Amino acid sequence: MESVILSEPPASYGNSDPSLLELLERHFGYKSFRPQQLEVIEHVLHGRDAVVLMPTGGGKSICYQLPALAFPGLTVVISPLIALMKDQVQSLQGNGIPAAFLNSTLEFNEERLIHQQLRNGELKLLYVSPERLFQLGFLDRLTELNVSLFAVDEAHCISSWGHSFRPEYKQLHVLKQRFPTVPVIALTATADRTVRGDIAHSLGLREPQVFISSFDRPNLSLAVLPGQDRWRAIERIVGRHAGRSGIIYCNSRAGSEKLAAKLQAIGVNADFYHAKLDALERSRVQDDFIQGKLHVICATIAFGMGIDKADVRFVVHYNMPGTVEGYYQEIGRAGRDGKPAETILFYSYADVQTHMHFAEEIQDPRYKEVVIAKLDRMKEYAEAQVCRRTILLSYFSEETVEPCGNCDVCKDPPKYFDGTVLAQKALSAVVRSRQQLPMSVLVDVLKGTRSPVVQENGWERIKTFGAGNDVSAFAWIMFIQQFLQLGLLEIAYADHYHLRITRAGEAVLQGERPVRLVSPATIKERQERPKQRKDVLVAGPSAAAEDLLAELKALRRTIAADLKKPAYIVFSDATLLDMAEKRPGNIYEFRLVNGVGDHKASQFGAAFLEAIAAWRGRRAVN
Ligand code: ADP
Ligand code: ZN
Repeated sequence: MESVILSEPPASYGNSDPSLLELLERHFGYKSFRPQQLEVIEHVLHGRDAVVLMPTGGGKSICYQLPALAFPGLTVVISPLIALMKDQVQSLQGNGIPAAFLNSTLEFNEERLIHQQLRNGELKLLYVSPERLFQLGFLDRLTELNVSLFAVDEAHCISSWGHSFRPEYKQLHVLKQRFPTVPVIALTATADRTVRGDIAHSLGLREPQVFISSFDRPNLSLAVLPGQDRWRAIERIVGRHAGRSGIIYCNSRAGSEKLAAKLQAIGVNADFYHAKLDALERSRVQDDFIQGKLHVICATIAFGMGIDKADVRFVVHYNMPGTVEGYYQEIGRAGRDGKPAETILFYSYADVQTHMHFAEEIQDPRYKEVVIAKLDRMKEYAEAQVCRRTILLSYFSEETVEPCGNCDVCKDPPKYFDGTVLAQKALSAVVRSRQQLPMSVLVDVLKGTRSPVVQENGWERIKTFGAGNDVSAFAWIMFIQQFLQLGLLEIAYADHYHLRITRAGEAVLQGERPVRLVSPATIKERQERPKQRKDVLVAGPSAAAEDLLAELKALRRTIAADLKKPAYIVFSDATLLDMAEKRPGNIYEFRLVNGVGDHKASQFGAAFLEAIAAWRGRRAVN
């Protein structure tokens, strides 16, 4: 196996970005780092802990895979998603990097071989499930190896404030206790501020630096449609994206099957996907979709994790998801190629009730509360009359608050009024209470209501007590929701749901920023009127590139079939697209395609160059 600067101590990386770039180029074929990747990598290589928050598709894996190559020892990756481990490991092996995984799916002999490789120091990366990590004796074995780095993937699973809490993850603090000098990098795509703090705390990280990449995906249009006539709307959506890829998320298996049948009946190349399908059928549907043989997938949320398909042109939510995190992750699967893509959420109160029903059955009262609070935020998003992107970004605590121009609210804005003074009253009450008020109590304070909670805490002595009694309690709730959506306030889930002021909120309080609000009457009127959506035009690759792209995809299919590997192990969609646009004429130009490293260039270069040359020849004749 080729070894790369493995023997050098990490300290030598202090100022040597060029060699990191070289490592990236050589092994992964990428020509540059994505935002934040280099900062994270350098930080980790200095032996320090990090929490990395990057949207799905942002390129989290490189943040630990590159350090794994640069460090002398082994990098252990803890991942809860057994199904994804194999893909990740195959991808690494496809790039000539020695990696393996350990989980419950392995045969005894396969596992023995891996242990042998570990003892011989032959592996750079080892993926393990948390169950396996805590299996008797496993950590002891690790202490005998030279571990350079721990990476905790899907780190939000450690937080009971997150949307997919995994109790096994809670034990991961053991890592820092047993390996105090080994850096830990925790990565997630979905964590609000509370969850982020919880991750660092629960893992026992030492002065971790938190890296947050932008969650903004300006090429995704955002829209919410009423749930009444979903089928008619879906016919229009698949019509305007005919022949292109899209995902429709449903909340039940039966729903996904029914919808797929209806689409097939009108001639759409559609199928369904859910957890009850057997593994073989699941991977067939998934592969067909990735290769573009299947256009529309009707799926439960079981679909999409780890799917790296760049040209998904639309994501529809037939039913409303239960959390903003989940929703954002799912729409994030559209438009990874950066080209315009459309997302639509159908909103009906029945869906809210379904979620409420599930929430009511949760035993743990603290967890139940979190689930309901998160559902509230999702519902408010669906009902909002504020730029939807602003809501999403402020949910993840980013501070971009300009209306986006690419959501249904921006395209058809409501009537606004200047709500700066109202906002200042509310924000000032929050500050004067030392941020101790949940929403309902804030309304009491603003209205001057001497409720028991108010009296117990002496809130009636706050200077702004009663400052908003000219506004109804209902209207205050509508306004406070808008302050949350605009990112002026946030909810501290881990601290009794108290409202906290954000930096943007402070700017408003200081009179540095105006606030536009929508009146409750306008909100009501707009929610009741039937929506007329203007269709969104979606552009694709140039016609010539598209033609070549189809041929490159066919070649990829053949090669993958020969190797008995999934197609993306050969090249990703994004790489093929770049290849179709660059059209390399020789192996040097081929190496310049994004996603082509040394290993793959020597393995597949000749075949793809030949295909491109043949395509050129045919075009010259025609
Ligand atoms: P995440 O885990 O954040 O969802 P991945 O690590 O799977 O994202 O990366 C998403 C895609 O971006 C993958 O196809 C990956 O190969 C690609 N990618 C990552 N880093 C780069 C880079 N620096 N240049 C080009 N492509 C990259
Ligand atoms: Zn907008």
